Amino acid sequence: SSGKLDKEKGVNVQVILRCRPLSEEELRINTPIVISCTEHRREVSAVQSIANKQIDRTFLFDKVFGPTSKQKDLFDQAISPIVNEVLEGYNCTIFAYGQTGTGKTYTMEGGRKAKNGEFPSDAGVIPRAVRQIFDTLEAQCAEYSMKVTFLELYNEEITDLLAQEEPKFSDDKSKKPIALMEDGKGGVFVRGLEEEVVYTASEIYKILDKGSTKRRTAETLLNKQSSRSHSIFSITIHIKECTPEGEEMIKCGKLNLVDLAGSENISRSGARDGRAREAGEINKSLLTLGRVINALVEHSGHIPYRDSKLTRLLRDSLGGKTKTCIIATISPSIHCLEETLSTLDYAHRAK
Ligand code: ADP
Ligand code: MG
Repeated sequence: SSGKLDKEKGVNVQVILRCRPLSEEELRINTPIVISCTEHRREVSAVQSIANKQIDRTFLFDKVFGPTSKQKDLFDQAISPIVNEVLEGYNCTIFAYGQTGTGKTYTMEGGRKAKNGEFPSDAGVIPRAVRQIFDTLEAQCAEYSMKVTFLELYNEEITDLLAQEEPKFSDDKSKKPIALMEDGKGGVFVRGLEEEVVYTASEIYKILDKGSTKRRTAETLLNKQSSRSHSIFSITIHIKECTPEGEEMIKCGKLNLVDLAGSENISRSGARDGRAREAGEINKSLLTLGRVINALVEHSGHIPYRDSKLTRLLRDSLGGKTKTCIIATISPSIHCLEETLSTLDYAHRAK
């Protein structure tokens, strides 16, 4: 799946892989590492041999980022070109896919302890994308406006992470589901979704904090919900431009940054009824996403967007004249090997 081939086929799906380092705790207990990344060959290998079982598999991706890779490297090499496409008026989507605890949220949001107003070195994709958008537009002296939405999808229900209500502590009435509506032109919109107009890159931290706090509150109330929910942070930019003939024109681009539910939900379902049903619903969005991306890559006539809310929501940014990037995240630990192999398989099939 080389970039050249993709261009010839007109496929705009890129799959990159990131492996996190072992945590301090994992290092302390001498956790064996079973993953090796060869960045210049864009390869990831999983190797393990125990008595009668030998695993030795190698996967090729569009880009590979090993355990020592920095947030800046990943952004500059893989994401920055996509942000430029958005500024050219395209709709693009970046997904973080992987087992819980492998760095999806770290990659998308990253650290946000800005020391004396400085940009934190561990800032993730979202703040870096916003900064690039502002820097580029300011340098061009463009007239523009930018707005963001931040929502969560859980059990095929949408919650607005930017809505004002205070979280309540009895059966969580604050998390009112809002509706996904057809716009009659083949598109969809979310009724009642809060949109925040953003004027500076630093405001993004306030918005991220607001949304993440709401997500975390829900997590405690609903037992680690965030590992089972998808969050979608969308940035819409309108740029005023003048054609050479002096006509005014508005260019509109959209960037969706999606922190997907933990992929372990795709392979394991809870034993009890409620949990099992829920796992089924989560399965639905993750599996449909996989099928949609497959269908796009294979230029199949029917793209099953309608089969899940996630793909319905992202329909205007998947396929056609759009760019899609999947960041698959994995752990190097021996204890995660089974999930790691299923992530590598899913991500690989997306090509
Ligand atoms: P997920 O969102 O996939 O459940 P997190 O982003 O919460 O996982 O990451 C789990 C832990 O690992 C966090 O403490 C995070 O800071 C750390 N982590 C993840 N990826 C990296 C990385 N590439 N470098 C350093 N720390 C990481
Ligand atoms: Mg997370």
